[in-house]
Amino acid sequence: MISANAALTGSYDPLQVALSVLIAVSASYAALDLAGRVTATRGRARLAWLIGGSTAMGIGIWAMHYIGMLAFRLPVPVEYDWPTALLSLLVGILCSAFALVVVSRRRMGLTYALIGSAIMGCGIAALHYIAMAAMRLPAECRFDFRLVALSVALAIVFSFVALWLEFYFRDEPKNSAWRKLGSALVMGVAISAMHYTGAAAATFIPAASALDQSHAVSISSLGTLGIAAATLQVLGVAVLSSLVDRRFDAQALELALAQARLELAHVARIATMGELTASIAHEINQPLTAVVTNGNFALRQIASGAPNLEELREAIAEIVNDGTRASAVISRIRALLQKGAPDRVELDINEVIQEVTILVRHEATLSGVSVRLDLAADLPRVLGDRVQLQQVLINLIINSIEAMRTLTDRPRQLLIKSAKNADAVLIQVQDSGKGLDPEQVERIFEPFFTTKPQGIGMGLSISRSIIESHGGRLWTVPGSSGALFQFTLPTNGNSVS
Ligand code: ADP
Repeated sequence: MISANAALTGSYDPLQVALSVLIAVSASYAALDLAGRVTATRGRARLAWLIGGSTAMGIGIWAMHYIGMLAFRLPVPVEYDWPTALLSLLVGILCSAFALVVVSRRRMGLTYALIGSAIMGCGIAALHYIAMAAMRLPAECRFDFRLVALSVALAIVFSFVALWLEFYFRDEPKNSAWRKLGSALVMGVAISAMHYTGAAAATFIPAASALDQSHAVSISSLGTLGIAAATLQVLGVAVLSSLVDRRFDAQALELALAQARLELAHVARIATMGELTASIAHEINQPLTAVVTNGNFALRQIASGAPNLEELREAIAEIVNDGTRASAVISRIRALLQKGAPDRVELDINEVIQEVTILVRHEATLSGVSVRLDLAADLPRVLGDRVQLQQVLINLIINSIEAMRTLTDRPRQLLIKSAKNADAVLIQVQDSGKGLDPEQVERIFEPFFTTKPQGIGMGLSISRSIIESHGGRLWTVPGSSGALFQFTLPTNGNSVS
């Protein structure tokens, strides 16, 4: 028989206490993880993460409190009023939504964090005491107000720590999983400390008055396990979907970067074309002048009444040749200016070098540079984008021509070499200019690094990304006279016939 005024003595089921701490730690981990998603996304996606995230977190915090309460065994049957329990769940979800909004702000000042943690702490304490109010048992609940105050203070302090931790770890890189886990442990233990202090503040005195048990439900040990399993599942799904979403985001970013690189390559190509305008005009003008000369000659032959058929045939053949040459130059320029996804075909790199040499010939002559080709015979074919590889060669050659413009004490020479190299072909572009400053060698491949007053500094960085996207390597060779750039391109083993 229980005496009228003595408090009921309860005991804790250690397994269920451990379960409640595990749920608190899992909810904290999910919170840290979801905060990152809410911060990284915008618009509808952000709203979806906010609603989904706060529901998962709310269920986590709520389940932790109920399992903590269920772990406390009293010598009388305890039931729970489900509408009140539902209200406490709602408070938990609102509290989590508030926390996610606070930590996903761009900046967080001290005042903001203090106000945020006061609101959040009071919310968690409200959840806890509403949950206790849901208890239906033949006893009256009395509170030790010092312990109640301590539990609210703990909830506020814990919220402050949690908000800071969430704010700082929300967009940490992947390798921060351990740190996140550490923070989740700290946060989980703090939530548990708040709960068990709150629980210690209550004593139960047997009551004689009749109980209102209209909406009460009893929860067995099996029920506790069910709540725990379902909660862990919800938190697991939340963390998993956040992981999947992050992967998708990373992929989208990579795609956008690749697209931007393509756009940049196009812009650089047009800039290069600008530099080459004079050369192009010359390349087209030359065959056109020849066509006019030969055409006039043919007309005069015909007008003479007795044309020399052999000479006439030669003149017309030359007209056809020059016309073909001019149209080839034009189609090469069109290809160079065309934007589009890389077009990989099997090609002869020597042919690409020869085409580019024709395009830059005039520019080289104007700058007094003699161009020499040393191309290996029987090179294997490479799989590549003709236009992109032309662009790399043009960048290297124009850089060399520019580097030699001020040279007066020795001949301005440009040597373009191709050779077989293991399972790749090696292409070298060497000039007799002042060479590369050893202190700048590492930096010249960086985007926007330039030493020229009119330079853009994109040529080498784009060239390197093009070669690397072909599976090759572009680098400089130190210790050579002048500058020596070389690149490799993997081969498919078939030699050019
Ligand atoms: P930009 O030509 O617009 O300056 P690049 O990326 O093509 O940009 O080159 C970066 C820098 O590398 C150049 O400004 C120059 O200082 C150096 N550089 C490139 N090629 C040569 C070369 N052949 N000889 C000497 N310096 C070079």
